[in-house]
Amino acid sequence: MTKRITVLGATGSIGEATLDLVRANRDQFEVVALTANTRVEDLIALALEFRPQCVALGDTQGADRLASALAGSGIDWAVGEEAVIDAARRPADWTMAAIVGAAGLKPTLAAAEQGGAIALANKEALVCSGVLFLDTCARFGTRVLPVDSEHNAIAQALANNRRHDVRKIVLTASGGPFRSSSLAEMGQASVETALAHPTWSMGAKISIDSATMMNKGLEIIEACHLFDLEHNRVEVLVHPDSIVHGLVEYCDGSWLAQLGSPDMRTPIAHALAFPQRMAADIAPLDLAKIGTLRFEAPDELRFPALRLARDAFAAGGGLAAVLNSANEVAVAAFLNGHIGFLEIAQCVETCLDQATKDGLNQWSMTCFEEVFSADTYGRDQAGRALQALMRA
Ligand code: NAD
Ligand code: MG
Repeated sequence: MTKRITVLGATGSIGEATLDLVRANRDQFEVVALTANTRVEDLIALALEFRPQCVALGDTQGADRLASALAGSGIDWAVGEEAVIDAARRPADWTMAAIVGAAGLKPTLAAAEQGGAIALANKEALVCSGVLFLDTCARFGTRVLPVDSEHNAIAQALANNRRHDVRKIVLTASGGPFRSSSLAEMGQASVETALAHPTWSMGAKISIDSATMMNKGLEIIEACHLFDLEHNRVEVLVHPDSIVHGLVEYCDGSWLAQLGSPDMRTPIAHALAFPQRMAADIAPLDLAKIGTLRFEAPDELRFPALRLARDAFAAGGGLAAVLNSANEVAVAAFLNGHIGFLEIAQCVETCLDQATKDGLNQWSMTCFEEVFSADTYGRDQAGRALQALMRA
């Protein structure tokens, strides 16, 4: 039986890796919908290759190009934010949620509400809507399969063991390009060096998040939600080799870990074939050649984003959503050359302080309107904080 699948964010790094696995196992999958934001030519090429029922492009300017390229193909197409949401709503057995940022929340929710499994790469959606998102999935009988490599590793290491017996979980972090840099060096970092991740090849936003370690901060929150743990039972361990992706410590002193080459196709394949497994063409892991696996404690002085994320989650209410949206704005400003690298975390901290003063930690976050309001609040505050930073 073929699995009907949808890929949200089909032209991105995770979308591409997903379709690579589908390409190698073409007879097992039927593609329902593919979506993208601006890369119209890439979306057209994918549409003609995978023959989905429909494609949707966020950017309305691509309409003419889609119309001419897909005329007579039998593939439905549409443009705009609502079109992406409608594509996500089409019945599918499995949806890859791989739009970057909070922009992925509405399409991911639409996919969750049609009841097929959600392979969740879009951690930002979960960070800002947390329990509400998972409750919505539960209400529609939607299974959430973690794709983030660390969370996928933890899910595998938890397997059928009793949650009650878990002492803590450990998310590994590569440490990013500035793992051994001084604060002074980080202050001068260029966009190119910040984007040059030592072990993983990823989209721009997550690459910068890895350099600030905000990615790991977001992942702490993601793990607390996915595995229903208090944040003090979720640890971060720097592991520059990116071979061990996640570990679980049990009450009897046993540690279970998942290992693999740093290739996102492994966790994606795990989610795509779940509860079975599928073959994936991954470079073999040669531990004898690697020889040594290194581990170090994270440095929260040079990487304050870790502390900011933990504190935002612990404070509760809308603070995680503010953390996320303020970070998105600050990362975009860094990528556009408006602020320095260290100012990303400074901007986020300023926004969180103001959000606490404004009582957002008291918000109940029991409806999506509150999630969207907290997201907008964070974007507005970050805009102000950036203006102050740029004037200074
Ligand atoms: P990317 O930038 O390579 O791709 C992002 C995708 O989202 C593109 O297809 C783009 O068209 C789409 N998109 C962007 N803005 C949109 C909008 N406003 N509306 C509709 N579509 C939009 O990003 P990526 O590296 O593939 O990451 C995607 C998600 O997966 C992120 O949430 C990231 O944190 C997560 N993730 C990525 C990796 C990785 O290795 N790349 C690992 C773990 C988790
Ligand atoms: Mg990760």
